[in-house]
Amino acid sequence: MENKIVLITGSSQGIGRAIALKLASEKAKVALNDIRSQEENLRKLKEEVRSLGTEVEYFFADVSNLDEIEKMVEKVKEKFGRLDVLVNNAGIAQDKTLAKMTKNEWQKVIDVNLTGVFNCTKASLPQIIQNQGKIINMSSVVGQKGNFGQTNYAAAKAGIIGFTKSLAKEVGRFGVTVNAIVPGFIETRLTKDLSPEIKLTVKKLTALGRLGQPEEVANLVAFLASEQAKFITGAVINIDGGLSI
Ligand code: NAD
Repeated sequence: MENKIVLITGSSQGIGRAIALKLASEKAKVALNDIRSQEENLRKLKEEVRSLGTEVEYFFADVSNLDEIEKMVEKVKEKFGRLDVLVNNAGIAQDKTLAKMTKNEWQKVIDVNLTGVFNCTKASLPQIIQNQGKIINMSSVVGQKGNFGQTNYAAAKAGIIGFTKSLAKEVGRFGVTVNAIVPGFIETRLTKDLSPEIKLTVKKLTALGRLGQPEEVANLVAFLASEQAKFITGAVINIDGGLSI
């Protein structure tokens, strides 16, 4: 990954943070992104990444806002000179049964999780094509299996799979790969408030009997971002400890 420029959305914490540290350890130059409220986390992470001996900068932008994302990608280009890998990682959940879900709760989750992927990819694609780069999208096992109380999140994450396969067909001729990662339950802020009962059920349904760690997902991202994975495109790769089998 030496001298590759990687942009990771939603990277102040959780899986995105682990991806930033992993790619930095492989000497990629890292563009961190998150919303402004995460400034403190971004500042700390910037120092951690820098101590690994690579270049790093953070950029505030809301992935659901195309204007902000276009400006961010311009700034990334100004700072690093190019962009090789985009990791569409930012995501939120607002769980409710459909009967109780408001239009806003539906729309917000679609806007961040699915339209966010469109916005960041749209803004980055010219540079990714120029550099025969790679796009990695974070889906979820919930997009494949569905989940009680997550119609909005499941629809967005299933949408990412269709988006990934379609774009892979469009840009393969330029040598660009587009892949989706499908995590099961990973220990981050997103899952920390699950009740002990739900965590126990998830563990029982997971062949390996545990939740995953952000670093384990980061290892897969690092592989897909590397030249070793250059014949893999349009793939939907589960990393779920066997939850989906
Ligand atoms: P997290 O909440 O720890 O991290 C998500 C990050 O996205 C946060 O830093 C948040 O501030 C950022 N973000 C939210 N809205 C944003 C916006 N509009 N613009 C830019 N950044 C924004 O969650 P995580 O578990 O690390 O999740 C990372 C990705 O992995 C998400 O797409 C999530 O859906 C997916 N995922 C997580 C799990 C899991 O079990 N944790 C499972 C499957 C998929």
